[in-house]
Amino acid sequence: MSFNHGCKDGPVLIVGSVAYDSVRTPFGEVQEALGGAASYSSVAASFFAPVRLVGVVGEDFAEQHVAALAKRNIDLAGLQRAPGKTFRWSGYYEFDLGHAHTTATELNVFQDFRPSLPESYRDSPYLFLANIEPTLQLSVLDQVRRPKLVVCDTMNFWIEHAKDKVLEVLARCDIALMNDAEARELCGEPNLIAAGRRLLNYGPGTIIIKKGEHGAVMMTHDSYFSAPGYPLEELKDPTGAGDTFAGGLVGYLARCGQTDEETMRRAIIAGSVMASFTVEDFSLNRLFALTPEEIAERYHEIVAMTRFGGL
Ligand code: AMP
Repeated sequence: MSFNHGCKDGPVLIVGSVAYDSVRTPFGEVQEALGGAASYSSVAASFFAPVRLVGVVGEDFAEQHVAALAKRNIDLAGLQRAPGKTFRWSGYYEFDLGHAHTTATELNVFQDFRPSLPESYRDSPYLFLANIEPTLQLSVLDQVRRPKLVVCDTMNFWIEHAKDKVLEVLARCDIALMNDAEARELCGEPNLIAAGRRLLNYGPGTIIIKKGEHGAVMMTHDSYFSAPGYPLEELKDPTGAGDTFAGGLVGYLARCGQTDEETMRRAIIAGSVMASFTVEDFSLNRLFALTPEEIAERYHEIVAMTRFGGL
């Protein structure tokens, strides 16, 4: 069962990294486990809407991982297999789990990747440009005919290596997601609210700033919303939390077929709920075992937790 039986609008096209991650946290470690921004976000979105994935993997990408994605009903016509090795990321987290320390980024097959969308993808109404080199995000954006909603994400690596291109992506999207440190870095602005305002001036009508375990804030030119993080007591690995949040958010919006303020607020809670599951285990293990009932239960817990009356 999945929430996407009630999906009111069309599929979500997602481009981003499909990776093998080696990650160490105070609670354990994994070597070359399935990861990547597109993997996390596609699986999260697939609970709410049909998903089309665009990305590239190398000859070493295991059939078992293709099958795991396909089993979530993710369309893999846009996942190319190229000579060479799959993208790899290695990193570790210290005790507070708040900050990923990158030890290695190997672009491998992403180095020469030129996305060419299957014809069947070009009318996708929802587009999520997950974390990957911004020129690849732009190339995908160029190939989709008048999408209804474009959402983008990025990370410090691209802000440091390709800031102009990151700004070009921002200028062409409706919703920009980033974490608090990235927002400060991109804007050169220590105050998060001021950074959010500046990001709005780059083009997107909505900015969502993710604050890790502390939730997320959404800003538009005339509204502000703050969502809490789900109070988890046991978490193992924060890798992919941001991507999962984004996938849940975009999938939820596609399911509802609208992006008014109320729907956006619910989508942010849906994203937070999805992210809270991802961090309970390494890689996509928890997401692959997740049920819609568990999602609904946690969503309602957050609603109950944040309800309060008027003065
Ligand atoms: P996050 O949601 O921010 O924790 O994203 C973690 C995922 O981002 C990991 O699964 C990595 O494979 C992926 N990743 C790390 N560095 C990069 C990069 N430079 N470009 C694209 N994806 C990356």
